[in-house]
Amino acid sequence: MSIKSLIRTIPDYPKKGIMFRDITTLFEDADGLREVIDSFAAEFQDKKIDMIAGIEARGFVIGPAVALALGVGFVTIRKQGKLPAETIGVEYELEYGTDVIEIHKDAIKPGSRVLVMDDLIATGGTALAAIDLVEKVGAEVVACAFIIDLPDLGGAQKIRDRGIEEFHLVEFE
Ligand code: IMP
Repeated sequence: MSIKSLIRTIPDYPKKGIMFRDITTLFEDADGLREVIDSFAAEFQDKKIDMIAGIEARGFVIGPAVALALGVGFVTIRKQGKLPAETIGVEYELEYGTDVIEIHKDAIKPGSRVLVMDDLIATGGTALAAIDLVEKVGAEVVACAFIIDLPDLGGAQKIRDRGIEEFHLVEFE
């Protein structure tokens, strides 16, 4: 089965009118999971990535597997208040209100070439905040990678507009 057909769609979750793209069914399929990780590894193996930064929570499922394949380390970008040591935070807009994501100040060596990973990009608010965080600790975001892009919401384009490579495996309207 294709990666796209292994992703389940849940209508009206978490609220009415939203078509939630559920990747748990993709991760449950051994061949699907392998294809996802192999596709990311093939795309980035020659791009001199020093570290992968995964966005909580579904970026924590794919990021470490790709990090192992590339032979690099993995750093967590988390919701506010979850990381125990000294952090830097970035606030970003949600549909209603704002949220904050954080990274440990000493997690990435300045000058490192970083790949940011999450399961899905929609408006790009989350990924752009993650890019800001990585840049604040003095590292460079070489690319952002997702399983799913929702192109109608424009997030992937915003990443490309910043001059950063954007890579995804499937798109949904
Ligand atoms: P953005 O900040 O608008 O680009 O939204 C992306 C963030 O929301 C990511 O962290 C996703 O995990 C999450 N997200 C938004 N819509 C979906 C969905 O349909 N399925 C899974 N995650 C989603």
